[in-house]
Amino acid sequence: MFDSLQDRLQSAFKTLRGKGKLSEADIDEVAREIRVALLDADVAVPVVRAFIGNVKERARGAEVSQALNPAQQVIKIVNEELVSILGGETRRLQFAKNPPTVIMLAGLQGAGKTTLAGKLGRWLKAQGNSPMLVAADLQRPNAVNQLQVVGGQAGVTVFAPEPGNGVGNPVQVARDAIAEAKRTLHDVVIVDTAGRLGIDAELMKQASDIRDAVNPDEVLFVIDAMIGQDAVTTAEAFAEGVDFTGVVLSKLDGDARGGAALSIRSITGRPIMFASTGEKLDDFDVFHPDRMASRILD
Ligand code: GDP
Repeated sequence: MFDSLQDRLQSAFKTLRGKGKLSEADIDEVAREIRVALLDADVAVPVVRAFIGNVKERARGAEVSQALNPAQQVIKIVNEELVSILGGETRRLQFAKNPPTVIMLAGLQGAGKTTLAGKLGRWLKAQGNSPMLVAADLQRPNAVNQLQVVGGQAGVTVFAPEPGNGVGNPVQVARDAIAEAKRTLHDVVIVDTAGRLGIDAELMKQASDIRDAVNPDEVLFVIDAMIGQDAVTTAEAFAEGVDFTGVVLSKLDGDARGGAALSIRSITGRPIMFASTGEKLDDFDVFHPDRMASRILD
């Protein structure tokens, strides 16, 4: 993951090795190399610009230090700036005061929503919660069945519409599911919604109708990290159309460049909350900005 970015940053830092106090030219040179490395990694241009501006300013202002040589100081600054663009603090799930907590999933078709429902369900169950998955993706013929399979693997209850009852009406399915969760004492309801291959008005309307009907505590926007620059456009459209509270990066295992991961927080202003790193249910974890930054710089 992010191998090329990692190599490029390391070679940028090498130009500083053995230097005493950094000159303006040294800072310009390392900043230029970091800029190219980030752009090649597909990080969004405005994010790169702000990042480089901060690194330069801080490198110029860095005090001569006993503990860190100039190269180490720049690495420390880059590390801190990476943590910052990845969101700073780890953002935990917000649970409702009065259960059930409602988590709605949104994103394009194929982003990994249904898989995520299983992963999140399993993860919540392991933490002592009693989650329920809700099949409110009624567009794709196989989606309900797929959620049932995933729920079975995760050992989590799945609420699916009975044939003839609410079929075709995902808003009603989501409402019924919450009533059922209250009756059966499930404390977290995870609503899987329909995606489309591309962004369209109908998709956004359906997602925002479900959101308005169930008033979720969290709306998680699931994005396929492998789509690179397109992730930014998609995220902006969803931020506008559905207004999500957090991002889940999926398929990070297949993302060689890292552009989506590094851009999405700054572009949307929403925290990255979880990362999916494979097809298996346990290829999933809370997203920690500091750990991700360290992995990039290791
Ligand atoms: P949905 O249409 O958004 O519900 O997407 P799915 O959950 O059906 O996922 C689409 C495909 O991506 C499936 O083949 C999943 O197995 C696969 N997938 C989901 N998450 C990941 C991940 O983190 N890594 C990898 N490599 N594949 C994933």
